[in-house]
Amino acid sequence: MYISDFLKYCPNCQNKLNQKNNFFSCNNCYFYFYQNPIPTNGLIIYNDKKEILLVKRKFPPKKNYWDIAGGFINLKENLEESLFREIKEELNILIEKNKINYLTSVNDIYFYKKIKHYTLCLIFTYKINGQRIKNIKSQDDVSQIKWFNKKNIPWNKIAFSGIKKALKLFFASF
Ligand SMILES: [Zn+2]
Repeated sequence: MYISDFLKYCPNCQNKLNQKNNFFSCNNCYFYFYQNPIPTNGLIIYNDKKEILLVKRKFPPKKNYWDIAGGFINLKENLEESLFREIKEELNILIEKNKINYLTSVNDIYFYKKIKHYTLCLIFTYKINGQRIKNIKSQDDVSQIKWFNKKNIPWNKIAFSGIKKALKLFFASF
């Protein structure tokens, strides 16, 4: 089930809603609603040994699968704030705003319990060095962290297909 499958009644007048793909409409009060993907943030962290840092997911969905650091955006956060917060929560480090670069965005389905959510992950890259590498510590919803090079990426244990796509794009020019 998608979360939108539960949207049966008009939030404005409680009439039954019509649905056509991602468009919901009410024949009674002309309330219109478009379902959009949930934006998320992700960061490909790499070092000067040509390795990238992957995090192992501690909780479902995709528990024990590898992922990039990142997560959802809180209601009043902008994209950058949410990214810096997630990196601090998961890896214990503060990253420099002027050193992140935008890479790409990828669609995914976030499947939690029986419910699916459409997400759109906005992915950045970041070259880490010095003391920050030593300060990295897996915490929060991350059970383990590990550096991987192009040849030993665990492709069949990457949590989401969109993330896999972004990693392939990254490695194509790395
Ligand atoms: Zn209505």
